[in-house]
Amino acid sequence: MSVRTDRAGSRPAHHLTDELLVDYAAGALGEAESLVIATHLALCPACRTAVAALEDVGGALLEGLAPAELATGSLDTVLARIGGEAPATPRVERKPPSGDRILVPEPLRGYLQASLEELPWKGLLPGLGMFEIATAGKTRKTRLLRVKAGTPMPEHTHRGSELTLVLAGGYSDERGHFVRGDIDITDDSVRHQPVADSDGDCFCLTTTEAPLKLTGRIGRLLNPFVRF
Ligand SMILES: [Zn+2]
Repeated sequence: MSVRTDRAGSRPAHHLTDELLVDYAAGALGEAESLVIATHLALCPACRTAVAALEDVGGALLEGLAPAELATGSLDTVLARIGGEAPATPRVERKPPSGDRILVPEPLRGYLQASLEELPWKGLLPGLGMFEIATAGKTRKTRLLRVKAGTPMPEHTHRGSELTLVLAGGYSDERGHFVRGDIDITDDSVRHQPVADSDGDCFCLTTTEAPLKLTGRIGRLLNPFVRF
């Protein structure tokens, strides 16, 4: 379920894992992960439905209602709904008409003082800009990334988990194609070199547990200097 391949309509194809949905619904995640997940939910009717259902289950359990019905398989039933028809909800355009500002959904919008295009981007590498977002948590970093159209990111792997939400444009690696609304969940088992789509800059919101580890020949030399 975390990677569905149907690209029908304008709905995201890459979703949250069951584990993240449950942790989010239970309020068990920190600010950074919650921000990324809540912003994905704003763009994803399927995950919104799943979270609402999980919150209902949680509420029912707390109130001691219908314990027999909830005892076996109820979570599976709830999660199975995600794969079904999504309810009718306002359609969110994934590719705003060119010339328009990129629509940033809440809650992320509340963290920014300017539009994505006008943020004071800090150049990190050629074609790669970064804007840091202050979130609670000692080691976890939350950033916006702006990758110039057609630019490959340095090949890297991860130290701990990384959540990435595409806000505009897209990128591809050997695992698939990620566009607005898609969430990309990686950890130290994933070593990749995403390449931004050639038809426009790619904007992402990302949160990492610890700095990325650059793995390419040049990247290894940059590791001491570039802290993602
Ligand atoms: Zn989703």
